[in-house]
Amino acid sequence: MERVPAVFIIDDPPVNSAYLMRKQMEAAGKPLGEKDFFTRTYLLRWREMEKSAIIPNAFFKKLAGWAVTEGVKGKCTLLACPGGLGFLDDKVAGYSGEQLKELLDIFRNDITRNFDITPEILTHTLALALKTNQLLPQTEHEWMALQNEETLTDYMAKGLQVLKNAGITATGITQPCNYRGDFGLYSRAVLAAEKRVNKLGETYYFHDCNSEDKKVSSKIMLQDPEKNEYVVSIVSASRADEPFWYTLYGEGDPEKLADYYISKDGKSGRFIDLLSTNSPLVFHAHGQTLYSNGSEKGFLSLQEVIRRMNKYLSSRIIWMKIGEFAAWNIRQQEKYAGLKR
Ligand SMILES: [Zn+2]
Repeated sequence: MERVPAVFIIDDPPVNSAYLMRKQMEAAGKPLGEKDFFTRTYLLRWREMEKSAIIPNAFFKKLAGWAVTEGVKGKCTLLACPGGLGFLDDKVAGYSGEQLKELLDIFRNDITRNFDITPEILTHTLALALKTNQLLPQTEHEWMALQNEETLTDYMAKGLQVLKNAGITATGITQPCNYRGDFGLYSRAVLAAEKRVNKLGETYYFHDCNSEDKKVSSKIMLQDPEKNEYVVSIVSASRADEPFWYTLYGEGDPEKLADYYISKDGKSGRFIDLLSTNSPLVFHAHGQTLYSNGSEKGFLSLQEVIRRMNKYLSSRIIWMKIGEFAAWNIRQQEKYAGLKR
């Protein structure tokens, strides 16, 4: 039987975006209230996360080393302007020069061994005015939905360029929170930004989750085989509020949370459902849901998930970085279409 791809996505590093977004929106006089699903469900106690507003470099070093040992691959976000605190290729408030250099070294040398890196557009908190470098009193994702293709392209290109200046080629884009605009326009902006900064015609973005269907496929949003240009929308098969959100304040039972993906006996869970249709196992977590306000309960639960996968599923899956997975999707489609490259 053909193995199916497995891809693990880590959103939001290096800061606790959930905390900083609420702090900054409150400071801007527009607190994210209970209308917002995540605030209502998980973030009413957001102030308790002040101590983990910035996730320590050592945690990412440990995560990267563990992924190499276990063979876990996928994608890790590196925000170009984390929480609007400054650009990675310049200065970021909360990091000494030495700490910022260390962070970049870890992402360049350790994280990239098993993960592709993407920006999760500039701040993941408030939108940034590119001309003045001032934060706007509006969340970045809401602002994005109102922009035309050219402005959105410039915004994405800025994220890619900052990472490039820091020595990292980001092969795609991650969308912070959600995008409520037109995805045709969005896909064209991703492609234009990648072509401009990295000269890449084959790229991807991560925005969608589908926790309902037993078969979850990523989608090719744009394609021009003649020019070798493709944009793939990578779809996570976890629910958007992945299970480790329950560990956000340091609580939660790692063994029980792991059951969402695969039970202790390997017989049930989301991954088992997906494998029943030979669906790829694409799943995601967040820097802050793995760090768990310092208790690392989310990371412990992830380790349990991987132990169970190694025990029961290792002959069924093949780990891929997200860029490899995007390419796999393109090849699969060509196979179906009977095209040859
Ligand atoms: Zn995010």
